[in-house]
Amino acid sequence: MWYILNFIIGAIFGSFLNVIIYRGVEGLSIKNPPRSFCPNCKTRLKWYDNIPILSFLILKGKCRYCGTKISPRYLFIELILSFGFLIHYIAFAFPIALILDSLLFVTLAVIFIDLKIMMIPDFAWIVVGLAGFLDVFLNGDFLFRILAFSIVLLVLLILKFLYRDSLGSGDIFLMTAFSFLLSLPLAFYMMIISSVLGILFAIVKRSKIIPFGPFISLSGYILYILNVLYFLK
Ligand SMILES: [Zn+2]
Repeated sequence: MWYILNFIIGAIFGSFLNVIIYRGVEGLSIKNPPRSFCPNCKTRLKWYDNIPILSFLILKGKCRYCGTKISPRYLFIELILSFGFLIHYIAFAFPIALILDSLLFVTLAVIFIDLKIMMIPDFAWIVVGLAGFLDVFLNGDFLFRILAFSIVLLVLLILKFLYRDSLGSGDIFLMTAFSFLLSLPLAFYMMIISSVLGILFAIVKRSKIIPFGPFISLSGYILYILNVLYFLK
């Protein structure tokens, strides 16, 4: 029963995340318009067009009204979050599962928004920061977290001073929030891994701007799991 519930909650959050990504990329508000609509024919969607996972499968990935193809990204995100929530619930104790759920949500949001418009939404670092405070209650270690946070912030400010444009303020907020959550030495691993991957990505894509966000969240999420599993700290 709880397994099914976690799966459904994951699918609902996946559906919500799709709205955030679409509206974030298009520069629309989350609240306005209040109802979802088809990006092509602008028809307001009925509740039965909006059931996570199921509607996409029933409509075979097309709009009911104009027949335009709906990006498979919608289904992909709903499936990842529902299976993600389910696996977190099976493999970890409750508060840890909650932290992992929020990290997975943030990671997907940052991947799809940052790669598209080179911007990290503010809610991302706020959620990671809150997860960090919850983790303090669970695992303590407050001083080392502050230390990790301060050192990483100092390094990033120096880099920002030297290179200016290649490091956005969103990257700094997200990386320091993850440093507080991960503490030492994981915060350093996260910083090194995400910097290397971000620079490699920019070289391969021949991009002048380096999208660090996806690599910060992805490495932060994976390091947090490894930490829980193997007590790296
Ligand atoms: Zn349509």
